[in-house]
Amino acid sequence: MSELYLSLHSHSEEAVWLLVRGDQLWLKDGALPVGDKAMLPSFEPEGPLVKVGTWEGRTAWLLEWPDRNAEPDFGEFSGLRPLLAPGQEALFQLAGRGIQLANFFRTHRYCGQCGARMRVVQEEIATHCDLCQHRCYPRLSPSMIVAVKKGRQLLLGSSPRHKNGMYSTLAGFTEPGESMEETVRREVMEEVGLRVHNIRYICSQNWPFPHSMMVGFIAEFESGDICIDPVELTDARWFDIDALPLIPPAGTIARTLIDHAIAEIQAG
Ligand SMILES: [Zn+2]
Repeated sequence: MSELYLSLHSHSEEAVWLLVRGDQLWLKDGALPVGDKAMLPSFEPEGPLVKVGTWEGRTAWLLEWPDRNAEPDFGEFSGLRPLLAPGQEALFQLAGRGIQLANFFRTHRYCGQCGARMRVVQEEIATHCDLCQHRCYPRLSPSMIVAVKKGRQLLLGSSPRHKNGMYSTLAGFTEPGESMEETVRREVMEEVGLRVHNIRYICSQNWPFPHSMMVGFIAEFESGDICIDPVELTDARWFDIDALPLIPPAGTIARTLIDHAIAEIQAG
């Protein structure tokens, strides 16, 4: 048995438990459970017990709740977003990794090529089909997110997904065959009809809703007039950095890029 996987029944150490049901985690008093396994609600685990990482010196184990419609006898299942609090980024990342791995194992029980039952690989995080040798790894979907500058202005858009009239940076998924820079140019053209240049990488964020790898850039306006794609956006405008609308909160990559772009503009 590799150290990635252990049997739950042979397990008694103090640990962090990521007990997953769909895209939810089991919380006790609003927090991730830390202790021995006796603190968990009673259930027969489904799928592998996987080591997800460590948290404050303790191993974090992933378990899958067997029945989507069943409620635990105590505690409650919750989405990830309540864990996205300032100062909790590492815990959020760990929980997001657990949710994504649980989703991977749940959706790769059968081979996509020949339909046979797949087995969980012991030496790496993968599933394997012994009949046709097809091997699957957890899916990550790269996407770009970009703050576009023009003089003292930033390009921000509002989408049907944004609540409270919030404006944010543009974003979109990479297509097969594209570089990240090509994704930036294509998405900005498709969403607002503008050409951009001087595209520079700033930072990235793994975003577990459901499995995005967001790659953040700053770009500069080159040419064109704003013409929005009404499917993606309800509005897009140039905002002076001294008169910004409601923008995403700290902890999001969109806010990091906006703050970075403002600092660049102010530095001249
Ligand atoms: Zn197969």
